[in-house]
Amino acid sequence: MSTAVTSYKNLIGGEWVDAVEGETMEVLNPATGEVIAEVPRGGERDVTRAVEAAAKALPDWLEKTPKDRMELLLSLADVLEEHGEELAQLESLNVGKPMWIARDEIPFTADNLRFFAGAARNLEGKAAGEYVAGYTSFLRREPLGIVVGITPWNYPLMMAIWKLGPALAAGNVQILKPAEQTPLTTLRFLELAQEVLPPGVVNVITGDGVPVGDGLVRHPDVALVSLTGDVETGKTIARTAADTLKRVHLELGGKAPMVVLDDADPEAVAAAVKIGGYFNSGQDCTASSRILVADRIYDDVMSETVSAVESLKVGDPSEADDVEMGPVISASQQERVLGFLERAVAAKATVVTGGGTVGDRGFFVAPTIVADVTQDAEIVQREVFGPVVTVQRFSSDEEALELANGVRYGLAASVFSQNVGRALSAARKLAFGTVWINEHLFPLTPEMPHGGIKESGYGKDMSLYSMEEYTRVKHVVAKLS
Ligand code: NAD
Repeated sequence: MSTAVTSYKNLIGGEWVDAVEGETMEVLNPATGEVIAEVPRGGERDVTRAVEAAAKALPDWLEKTPKDRMELLLSLADVLEEHGEELAQLESLNVGKPMWIARDEIPFTADNLRFFAGAARNLEGKAAGEYVAGYTSFLRREPLGIVVGITPWNYPLMMAIWKLGPALAAGNVQILKPAEQTPLTTLRFLELAQEVLPPGVVNVITGDGVPVGDGLVRHPDVALVSLTGDVETGKTIARTAADTLKRVHLELGGKAPMVVLDDADPEAVAAAVKIGGYFNSGQDCTASSRILVADRIYDDVMSETVSAVESLKVGDPSEADDVEMGPVISASQQERVLGFLERAVAAKATVVTGGGTVGDRGFFVAPTIVADVTQDAEIVQREVFGPVVTVQRFSSDEEALELANGVRYGLAASVFSQNVGRALSAARKLAFGTVWINEHLFPLTPEMPHGGIKESGYGKDMSLYSMEEYTRVKHVVAKLS
C-alpha cells in the first residue's frame, strides 16, 4: 500500500509559505523507502526573509514578562501533549522509530517545555550591591535577540524543543532549521501551536545544511547558533561563525564507553547493552557503542549480551507494536554503517552477531556486535551511528579507563560495578559530560545538563545551565550621588 504524500510549508512571521524560489524536497519513510511528504527546499532568500520576520517580532516579544513567557511555554506543552499520539505517529513514520519510543518521547518533551516555563521566572545572577563605595552595581540578564536552532534527524521533535524551550524562556526569538531527512514533526507541532504562538517568535526553514543552515550561521543579525549534529558540521559552523563572532553552542557526536568492571552483574550489563546500543537503531549520540569488559567476566557478559541482542525484534514499526528496532534513517546511512563493518572485518575484527541488512526494503541493519578490535581501529575511534557495538577486554580498572577515555569524543559514558567506591572513582576519572552508574542512556531529566567535552562540543542543553547559552549578562552601575 503506498502512502499519501503530504505537502508542508515553512513558517515565517506567522505565515505558512513556500520557498522563495518555489523549490521542494522529498521526505521518505526509512522503513519502506517511500516518499511520504514534500517540504520547501529553502535558499539564501528564505534565510533573509526568516531573519527579517524574527527581527520584526523581537521588539514586542522583548516586552513580555517572564510570566508571559512561562504561560506561552506551558500552552506549548499542552498542545504537544494533546496531540501527542499524532506527533508520535508522524515521528515514527519519518524516523522509522518504534511507536513505543516515539510515544515515550512525548511526555519527556512536554516536560522539557514545562521545565523551561519555570526557568523563565528563575533566572539568577549576583546580588546588586555597593562593590565600589558610592556606586550600586547590578546585573541584567538579557536575551540575545535572534537565535538559531539547527537540529539532527535522530530525535527531531525532542531536539527542536530542547532548543526552543530555553530560547523562548530567556526571551529570544528563534529560527529553527530541521534536518533535511526529518522536518515533519517540527513543522506539524508548530502548525498545531499557531493559536498560541505570537507571529515571528518561532520560524522554521527546511532545506539543506548549505545554503540554509550555513546562511543562518553567516547572517550578521543572528546572535547564537545552537547545533545538534555531527562533529564535522560543528567545526564548520564554529569556523563560519568566527566571521561574525556570534555565539555557538555545539552538541555533537559521541562514542560512549560502557565500562564493565569485574564485579558487575552480566545479566544487568546485557539488558543495558540491549537498550544502550540499539535504542533508536543505535542512532543516539550517547549510545553505548563501546563495551569494555573485565577479563574475569568477559565470557559470561558476552554470552548474556549476544543472546539479549539477538532477541531484538527488528521490523517496520507500522507493522507491529512489539517492534523493538526499526531501520536506520536513509540508504546512505545504511551504506555508511555497512562500510564501517566491511573495513572492520578487513582489519581482522570478528562480527559476533548481525553484520548485514535485514529484509528487502527500507534501510535496515541487523543489530551487530563486533569483537577482536584494537583501540586504534576505525570502528572504535569513529562514531558509526547505527546498531553496532564493539567489545574490548581489559585486565585492570586503570586500563579500562585509559581505553574509555582514549577517543576524541566526550559526551557520555557508563560504569557497571557492584562496588560504589570503584564506580564513583571511575565516574570521577571518565572524561565525559554524563556518566551513568549501572545504567546507560537513561534517565535523562530536564533539571540536569546534557552536553559534551572534547570534540563532542561545548555548551549545555536542558537544565538552568542551558540558560547561560541563551542569555548575556550586562553590568549596570549607578553613581549614588
Ligand atoms: P549533521 O551534522 O549532518 O546535520 C545536523 C544539522 O546540521 C542538519 O539540520 C543539517 O542540515 C545541518 N547542517 C549540515 N551542514 C551544515 C552547515 N555547513 N552549516 C549549517 N548547518 C549545517 O548531523 P545528522 O547526521 O543530522 O545527525 C547525526 C549527528 O548528530 C551524529 O553525529 C550525532 O552524534 C549527533 N547528535 C548529537 C547529539 C548531542 O546531544 N550531542 C544529539 C543527537 C545527535
